[in-house]
Amino acid sequence: MCGIVGYIGNKDAYPILIKGLHRLEYRGYDSAGIALLDNNAELHVYKTRGKVINLEQFCKDKNINGTIGIAHTRWATHGEPSDINAHPHYSQSENLALIHNGIIENYLALKQMLELKGFKFISQTDTEVLVQFIEYIMNEEQCSLYEAVHQALSQVVGAYAIGVLEKGNPNTLVAARKGSPLIIGVGKDEYFLGSDASPIVEYTKDVIYLNDEEIVEIKRGAKEIVVKNLANIELKPKIQKIQMDLSEIEKGGFPHFMLKEIFEQPKSLIMCMNGRVQTELQDIMLSGIRENIEKFRKARRILITACGTSWHAALIGKYLIEYYCKLPVEVEVASEFRYRNPVIFEDDVMIAISQSGETADTLAAIELAKGKGAFIYGICNVVGSSLARVTHSGTYTHAGPEIGVASTKAFTTQVAVLTMITLLLGKELGTIEISLYKQLVKALFEITNKIEKIILKADEIKNMSKIFTYAHNFMYLGRGYNYPVALEGALKLKEISYIHAEGYPAAEMKHGPIALIDEEMPIVVIAPKFKMYDKIVSNIEELKARKGRIIAIVSEGDTTISNIADYVIEIPNTEECLTPLLTVIPLQLLSYYIATAKGRNVDQPRNLAKSVTVE
Ligand code: GLU
Repeated sequence: MCGIVGYIGNKDAYPILIKGLHRLEYRGYDSAGIALLDNNAELHVYKTRGKVINLEQFCKDKNINGTIGIAHTRWATHGEPSDINAHPHYSQSENLALIHNGIIENYLALKQMLELKGFKFISQTDTEVLVQFIEYIMNEEQCSLYEAVHQALSQVVGAYAIGVLEKGNPNTLVAARKGSPLIIGVGKDEYFLGSDASPIVEYTKDVIYLNDEEIVEIKRGAKEIVVKNLANIELKPKIQKIQMDLSEIEKGGFPHFMLKEIFEQPKSLIMCMNGRVQTELQDIMLSGIRENIEKFRKARRILITACGTSWHAALIGKYLIEYYCKLPVEVEVASEFRYRNPVIFEDDVMIAISQSGETADTLAAIELAKGKGAFIYGICNVVGSSLARVTHSGTYTHAGPEIGVASTKAFTTQVAVLTMITLLLGKELGTIEISLYKQLVKALFEITNKIEKIILKADEIKNMSKIFTYAHNFMYLGRGYNYPVALEGALKLKEISYIHAEGYPAAEMKHGPIALIDEEMPIVVIAPKFKMYDKIVSNIEELKARKGRIIAIVSEGDTTISNIADYVIEIPNTEECLTPLLTVIPLQLLSYYIATAKGRNVDQPRNLAKSVTVE
């Protein structure tokens, strides 16, 4: 949530910052702003409500110059989206400008203290309090910006990634992080700041991932940057290479990132399984699992924690691991888990899942379980993310950057990783027969071609979706492995079309939701032909008897449901445990096409943003 970009070097900063904001806009888009020190070291802030394009319009006829600047695209937490609440925020004297991602939790106490000292506030944000506080310390202590930021952050409670500029000091950019991501790009005689690598990758692949409670002073032209932590210990930053191509963060001819990402799922899954699913040997190689097999063997239980779409993947993980590995699994929404004083045993294994690896609640759940001695295994997409760094071991999904706010390829690759983990664990623990193991490994490898086949039906699904733009409510039903897919289908529709949707286990319908069914209500039923098939056919009959309009996701060649449902979408045949990787694809396409038919901005749905870095 919220995008931060910064630049210090020899080039004109404005175009770099604006381009960076465009690349980061998926992280927040209710306002945008920029601060630069011009060639006379004067500090200027330009900011406006709305998208980055509005900011560009606003800046068009202004003479903006300078080779040092910071910029921000906001996802409001404190104060409505408005020009005044947009970042950067000035300090009272307008000597400082600051951008911030996160929440300063003790901002009210700090604000009261500052008000008593005569500081005036013009915005409703927690961020303005921080910049005023830094200025207060600079005045009181007569210290440098870096020193004041250090002192201020020692007294701040909450999460932040910040960038700060000071009038008259065109050679210094100060930044810091705790709980919100921040990366420094290292170029030739230039440095960049970014919430992620997307605004940086065009200029350099050398980056430094700041750790929590690290504060950095970047001096123009300096060979090295100064990094200290809150304990005032100087650290040697490690430069790492980012593996990301520019093409991966561009739309590549698609109208939206979401559609591009739906379509590229076969490729993402190939990258995810590359070197891991070994077809010739019919085996799975996951070093994280192999190296830690004893932790799993001795595990009292597995806890899987995640939020949102990743939580749906986690639920599928529970079905998989319990069935094939005979280990008890509990799935926990991270935001609940972290605050409810859960029972955690030393011999628990926690699997934590987050696309960005920066989800604040998931990171907190990890810390909690780690503190109690549990072994933590991470699943995330972004290499070098906080999750990757705080877990004991893990597996990257390697889906490539996911920019669409509604997660698609992250989900399927998470499910693929959970499937690989399950199969390998089952084999190592001796809970899966070798012949079945090999059969499932082969079927997993073949899944990408089957997804291709479903994607070929995109036009068919597009035509069907036009019929449903009238709906105000949708229901999604599934059983077994496809119950979490029903939840995911409903979430996709809500997120991008703003149509209310509920996901339920199909048999639960009779315990209440069936009261909602009438001829207006579209019901998506996920009904591939496996052991619960007859039961789900009965569920469909019950819905038809109440005039519900059925869209059924069925196995290739199904004739029974085709005769009773209003619309059917066929998926190729596969193993039951792998069906979520197929059944979710038509649901992603359905929500995408319904949303676009309704004229929604699917890549920037209202109120949402990618990468939930605040709790
Ligand atoms: N808490 C700050 C605000 O509401 C920062 C939000 C963000 O991360 O975009 O302005």
